[in-house]
Amino acid sequence: MKSDGRERAARVLFPSYDSFTVQYSLKNVTHVYLYKLSFCNFACVKGLIVKNTGSWYIVRTASGEEIPCKIKGTFRLKGFRCTNPVAVGDHVEIDRRPDNTAFIAKIDERKNYIIRRASNLSKEFQILAANLDLAVLVVTLVNPETSTTFIDRFLATAEAYNVDTLIAINKIDLLVDDDSRALLEAVAYLYASIGYDVIKMSTVTGEGLQELARALTSKMSLLSGNSGVGKSSIINKLVPGARLRVGTISDVHHTGMHTTTFSEMLDLPAGGAIIDTPGVKGFGTIDFEKGEVAHYFPEIFKMSSQCRYNNCTHTHEPGCAVLEAVSDHRIAQSRYASYLSIIDDSTEGKYRKPY
Ligand code: GDP
Ligand code: ZN
Repeated sequence: MKSDGRERAARVLFPSYDSFTVQYSLKNVTHVYLYKLSFCNFACVKGLIVKNTGSWYIVRTASGEEIPCKIKGTFRLKGFRCTNPVAVGDHVEIDRRPDNTAFIAKIDERKNYIIRRASNLSKEFQILAANLDLAVLVVTLVNPETSTTFIDRFLATAEAYNVDTLIAINKIDLLVDDDSRALLEAVAYLYASIGYDVIKMSTVTGEGLQELARALTSKMSLLSGNSGVGKSSIINKLVPGARLRVGTISDVHHTGMHTTTFSEMLDLPAGGAIIDTPGVKGFGTIDFEKGEVAHYFPEIFKMSSQCRYNNCTHTHEPGCAVLEAVSDHRIAQSRYASYLSIIDDSTEGKYRKPY
């Protein structure tokens, strides 16, 4: 989201992969060395990673051919073990050998990516997807109710990762009485007024589906949201032949410790693709630093330029323009509460230090 010219914090980790420190074990001896990826011994072919099956990466070339590729060793980056250094959405060069095997030789610079830590305390992480144009956050006001805290944390994380977000409010067919309709309008207005795109939709009535399809055209998008909000149903409507299982996959099963998630790119008929990462609700937990949290709430960040103190935390300071805006209802109470909850986490040290 555009700011008013002041420098905003942003997280761009490992923007380019031209070399890796590779670690692999051979006959119980661990070898660690810097591995330059940028060479091809045989035929060098450019392509896009469209699927990660765990043992193979499927690379699609410009001619549309899909080539299964491998990558050597496991990778160590800045002391963090990465189980899959290459992700769906990465542009790569592969070394295609005469015996028809292929290895990934170079990974192009990424504009962004999302990661997930294998478990809370683990130093191991997974890159789930790279080069996203859009993150679609699917939310529902009933059945289940998505909390504003979840929405705001997701949005803040997307801001930190520099990924544009669209909020799709699904299951609006269930909002029939006046109160629920009023709530729908209020939520849609709140996020639209901050600057987010909002689509009100239902996979049952088909409302909003065309609008969503248009928003996704020619983009690489990630569909996120809590279990049960209708992500699989949406993909089934938008991607002919996807036939994902609806309402049966248990999220608990997919998000347990040390599970590996395999992503896949699903092409959209009008161009563009949705990246499907089963069981993944959103971005990995980000380790926010207290001072940067306000940067990821666009309306708070905007207002903060008028605070008396430069290092204002917007919690108690005299002359705080944010506190004033909250009491005047120019900043929503729910958004401010989410801001405070993230600040609290970083204060308590509940989340670990940033990488
Ligand atoms: P996911 O867990 O996010 O992939 O959600 P699913 O697509 O599996 O949907 C969960 C449940 O919500 C299923 O029973 C769907 O039939 C239902 N569902 C999905 N979209 C809608 C909708 O727009 N309206 C209603 N009423 N139910 C929906
Ligand atoms: Zn302030």
